[in-house]
Amino acid sequence: MPLRILPLLSVLAFAGAWPIATAPAAEPAPAPCIFCEIAAGRTNQPAREVYRDDLVVAFMDRAPRNPGHVLVVPIRHAENALDTPPATTARLAVTAQKIARAIRRTDLRAEGFNLQSNSGRAAGQTVFHFHVHVIPRFAGETPAGAEKVAAAPADLEAAAAKIRAALVSP
Ligand code: 5GP
Ligand code: ZN
Repeated sequence: MPLRILPLLSVLAFAGAWPIATAPAAEPAPAPCIFCEIAAGRTNQPAREVYRDDLVVAFMDRAPRNPGHVLVVPIRHAENALDTPPATTARLAVTAQKIARAIRRTDLRAEGFNLQSNSGRAAGQTVFHFHVHVIPRFAGETPAGAEKVAAAPADLEAAAAKIRAALVSP
């Protein structure tokens, strides 16, 4: 190939008019979203669910900051608090309050709660499906809370059963 043609080919390739082997690969398909899987009931962990309605679902955090740590998430995927429809955000807030009140009626003995949501990696978000944490807190804890350690499934299921029962009791 005459050398003087090369610059023209480079320009065409840069403009997308000429296929070249070094063209950027297509974006990888997004990985399945674990909270979408849970919301759709595809994870085989129904015993960890504490509440569900037409917009939101609440279930035990698999690595609770304290016993009774629940996540409330929209059923329909939204990445974070900023891109969730307001009606869903309102339902998430009301549900988080409902869950916290129910936890207070159990023997988990929560003395306080963090109702918390992290939006964006810089804010500490690690699962990119909007969620509100309902975290039971106890006097004397450091503000950051206890270390998070993956809980035994039986402990998660026992806590979920208590909260479900408290949700339906007056
Ligand atoms: P973030 O750091 O995004 O605010 O909170 C994500 C939370 O999701 C963490 O507390 C983490 O323990 C929890 N989590 C991550 N993966 C799973 C999962 O597969 N199942 C459950 N139940 N919780 C999860
Ligand atoms: Zn999702």
